[in-house]
Amino acid sequence: MSILAQHKYPLSFRHHVHRCHRPFIRTRVCCLAATTNTAKPRLNSDQLVMEPRLDPSPTSVTDPNRPVLHDPTLKSTWSHRAWVASGCTTVLISLAKAATGAAESHLWLEPILAGWVGYILADLGSGVYHWGIDNYGGASTPFFGAQIEAFQGHHKWPWTITRRQFANNLHALARAVTFTVLPLDLAFNDPVFHGFVWVCSGCIMFSQQFHAWAHTTKSKLPPLVVTLQDAGLLVSRSQHADHHRPPYNNNYCIVSGVWNEFLDRQKVFGVLEMMLFFKLGVRPRSWSEPNSEWTEENEIPPKITAH
Ligand SMILES: [Zn+2]
Ligand SMILES: [Zn+2]
Repeated sequence: MSILAQHKYPLSFRHHVHRCHRPFIRTRVCCLAATTNTAKPRLNSDQLVMEPRLDPSPTSVTDPNRPVLHDPTLKSTWSHRAWVASGCTTVLISLAKAATGAAESHLWLEPILAGWVGYILADLGSGVYHWGIDNYGGASTPFFGAQIEAFQGHHKWPWTITRRQFANNLHALARAVTFTVLPLDLAFNDPVFHGFVWVCSGCIMFSQQFHAWAHTTKSKLPPLVVTLQDAGLLVSRSQHADHHRPPYNNNYCIVSGVWNEFLDRQKVFGVLEMMLFFKLGVRPRSWSEPNSEWTEENEIPPKITAH
């Protein structure tokens, strides 16, 4: 559930026309060393090399789905804020039940351990969900269609996540958390159970923020976030950068990223993909690389103007 996306990118014709008059450079992000799915060196994000090149493709210039710099679809609405508020409220109720139950029973260790398990499993859940919507279904898929489309948009225009406002980025996850955690708040009082629930649901709800931080340059991040990323408590920028490089089939987890190395080394998702292919005949999108729609496009940096 992590990575729930939020938004489709259909933009107005006005944006479309405006973009057609703006020169831009299509860039390809690559690293200084060969990257493969296994035994891959974890590169520092500073080692990323942006290779600007003029984009000769008129189709990408006129792509009606390309977001623009001050796109209104990146802004938060009051509806987004309301969903984030309701999601936070349900998580805080679960936290309060865990704390009061622990205080009354004088048992703190079990709820804390349950919270740690929730934190670890939230990362795994984010990876499984991200893998699923990156590889299967489409815009017309029931219930998940908008998220699938938005995540494909994220692969094409990953920089938009850093321009997306907070509630805009989190509202879809917050809505899912509200509908899941509210019944649990009403039905259960066990402090150990709520120790798990509040941490797991909180990490899932904020995973899109952790994801956005993984796309943000170090100099623009709060020092505490950089410290948590460097300590491996939040998914790191370098680890998530690997996900946005060919072959686009690794590093799916975006809470702490603690599961990524194990899942990729054991080829867990590759095995699942083979099982689904032989059972159902469905091919994951990652098998289509490097010719997929995921080729990244970046807006032209202000100083590199093509004439
Ligand atoms: Zn992805
Ligand atoms: Zn990303």
